[in-house]
Amino acid sequence: MPRPIEALVHTAALAHNVARARAAVPDARLWAVVKANAYGHGIERAYEGLRGADGFALLDLAEAERIRALGWRGPVLLLEGVFEPRDLELVSRLDLWHTVHCIEQIEWLAAHKTSAPQHVFLKMNSGMNRLGFRPESYRSAWARLNALPQVGEIGLITHFSDADGARGIEHQVRTFAAVTRDLPGERSVANSAAILRHHGTGGLPGVLRGFQGNDWVRAGIMSYGSAADHPEHDAEHWNLRPAMTLHTRLIATQQLEPGDTVGYGSSFTAERPMRIGIAACGYADGYPRHAGSGTPVLVDGEHTRTVGRVSMDMLAVDLSGLPQAGVGSEVTLWGHGPGDTILSIDEVARAAGTIGYELMCALALRVPVRVVD
Ligand SMILES: *Cc1c(COP(=O)(O)O)cnc(C)c1O
Repeated sequence: MPRPIEALVHTAALAHNVARARAAVPDARLWAVVKANAYGHGIERAYEGLRGADGFALLDLAEAERIRALGWRGPVLLLEGVFEPRDLELVSRLDLWHTVHCIEQIEWLAAHKTSAPQHVFLKMNSGMNRLGFRPESYRSAWARLNALPQVGEIGLITHFSDADGARGIEHQVRTFAAVTRDLPGERSVANSAAILRHHGTGGLPGVLRGFQGNDWVRAGIMSYGSAADHPEHDAEHWNLRPAMTLHTRLIATQQLEPGDTVGYGSSFTAERPMRIGIAACGYADGYPRHAGSGTPVLVDGEHTRTVGRVSMDMLAVDLSGLPQAGVGSEVTLWGHGPGDTILSIDEVARAAGTIGYELMCALALRVPVRVVD
């Protein structure tokens, strides 16, 4: 018998979430963002659920190759562009679109021998200060690109630092709109949080409603059913469904007396007699070690909490009030539980001081994954 731990990738949930992105921005074309191996879901496993998108956006040339190998002939965008000049050959061969965010990439293009002009997106650093040309040098970068025979269409792209938070996107939208005002080309600005929060849905002000910058939107985390702005809103609020389940079973139970402690470092002490279960899941499976006692978990679909430190291969759960639970009981770490129960990955992430993104991406290689509807 293998260990009972398993992850599920839910095809119908992915398709539902893609449809949610479409409904939020009906006039835009949609990139499903599949970087980091489809946020830990696996590109090949997520493909069926995501193929209703108009394109795929990712970072890695090897991942782009995998998308093409699946038979995808539509647009594929490299979100960080190429990393060295010879990548441009593969770009041509795989017919990829690529972001141009720095002067070096323009020089590589200028020196590249190509028969077919390449489709690029010129990135503006409109305030995040990670990638892109600053507003004052953006137009000259555009002019340089536009003069290159190696370049065909030039799209215009930027990324928001605070689409999920209080500062918002208005300052960046204003900069981007002013600098690109009379430039031709398709625009792309919105990530998941901007798709959900800034188009006048969900009771929030619609900074992007009517904005001429939504030829393409980039749906990452929302495609996988996590709320980009948790805990202000949860996935249920946005009508998103978890695309990943991590579940396992209890492999032991222990009866504790008052004063008994649980696990390494004895971080949890029983105050009264209580029963706990030992689940076959630990940090080597990708469950966050920083999730302290009290992290939510489902046992046979009932809400309970973890107790003590997470160890490499096991964690302990409180079975108080769950007298029927025992060895073999199903433990849902996140995602879909028995019946219609759901435990949001965002709640688990919050208890561990992180975000749903990180937990999905960290699902360990040793966990078997099954694709289900
Ligand atoms: C990752 C990424 C996205 C997707 O962001 P989400 O918050 O997951 O929707 C969009 N655009 C760029 C440039 C990215 O790197």
